[in-house]
Amino acid sequence: MANVQNKVVIITGASSGIGEETASLLASKGAKLVLAARREDRLKELQQSIEKEGGEAIYKVTDVTSYEEVEALANYAHETFGKVDVLINNAGLMPLSLLNKRKIDEWNTMIDVNIKGVLHGIAAVLPYMREKKEGHVINISSVAGHELAPGSSVYSATKFAVRAITEGLRIEESPENNIRATIISPGAVNTELKETITDEDVKSSIDDVYSQSIQPDSIARAIAFAVDEPAEVALNEIIVRPTAQE
Ligand code: NDP
Repeated sequence: MANVQNKVVIITGASSGIGEETASLLASKGAKLVLAARREDRLKELQQSIEKEGGEAIYKVTDVTSYEEVEALANYAHETFGKVDVLINNAGLMPLSLLNKRKIDEWNTMIDVNIKGVLHGIAAVLPYMREKKEGHVINISSVAGHELAPGSSVYSATKFAVRAITEGLRIEESPENNIRATIISPGAVNTELKETITDEDVKSSIDDVYSQSIQPDSIARAIAFAVDEPAEVALNEIIVRPTAQE
């Protein structure tokens, strides 16, 4: 993976699941990782494990719902490594529920993390990428960003939004400023994600879907593939789901 080597990669939601696995894989291929999430102990542990394997990583505790914190993260990456090549907007939550449960706080949290968090990331790195006339933003959407199931209305809405924002970024920034935009849409992946579900009626059907989930390394490989493409090749969207998923 020659094009991964020495790239400075910011990844949000690096403290578990897909983010953690992707960070480890990219670091093993020679990228310089900037790890972000809210749980410092997990970030520190991951940084140490990457360094133990001979890789390079720094971390910054970041809540993506705060633009100031995300801007500070991008600035920290730039101060430390002198550039920002790739942003992976991966942080996300999935408290699925039926609309009639009226879980308004959970809807707001999903909108804040899954949509505003992605926008904050783009806003924070865009000046650096435009200045350099090169960059790559990878946004994690979902199969739920392509289709609906009972209980997924708001989560799906946030993931449809992620796809819209990514395509908007591509149209506005790819041709002129050489900034690539990639959507990665995973199906059921075995992580902590479904632990945020509080609606008992949705939980049981989701357990069914996740009984055939794949491991996060399958998504990490797709992300690494996109990062490794040469600058003139824009890989715009990948869907990765369990073979057994409908
Ligand atoms: P995890 O729950 O394992 O990871 C979610 C990550 O997001 C954690 O590292 C968490 O870190 C971080 N996070 C949550 N809220 C915030 C916040 N406010 N600020 C910063 N970081 C935050 O789940 P996955 O690895 O599965 O999820 C990663 C992405 O993949 C998400 O966007 C999810 O929607 C998407 N996805 C996952 C699928 C799956 O089946 N697992 C399927 C389709 C898409 P911390 O709590 O430390 O802040």
